Amino acid sequence: MRVGDIYVFYDHDETYKKVKIINVRGYEQIEMTGIQEKYVEADVVDFEYTDSSTRKKYGSELYQSKRFRKIDREPHCWSCKDNLNEKTDHICPTCGWIVCPNDGGCKCDKP
Ligand SMILES: [Zn+2]
Ligand SMILES: [Zn+2]
Repeated sequence: MRVGDIYVFYDHDETYKKVKIINVRGYEQIEMTGIQEKYVEADVVDFEYTDSSTRKKYGSELYQSKRFRKIDREPHCWSCKDNLNEKTDHICPTCGWIVCPNDGGCKCDKP
């Protein structure tokens, strides 16, 4: 995960949103295991919402691979096979796939 990457983020309202990574910082937290303290290292990701469908602008989240999904290098529509653009095209809030600007295709419509 690098600054400037575009990711699909599964937000806390249980919809998918497109975000751009603006900062990745290390973070340590202390976890108590019984009577012992253990330091746990994790990454905290700061990001900017890039979809106009949300009013939120920025977010921070402990990095978890199940919440962040990188968009494929050369995405294309499953239906019309047209190339999609991870930077400009919208993300379907329900399935997290890029919505095809030609036919509106996403995973929800896939048979
Ligand atoms: Zn299409
Ligand atoms: Zn969808």
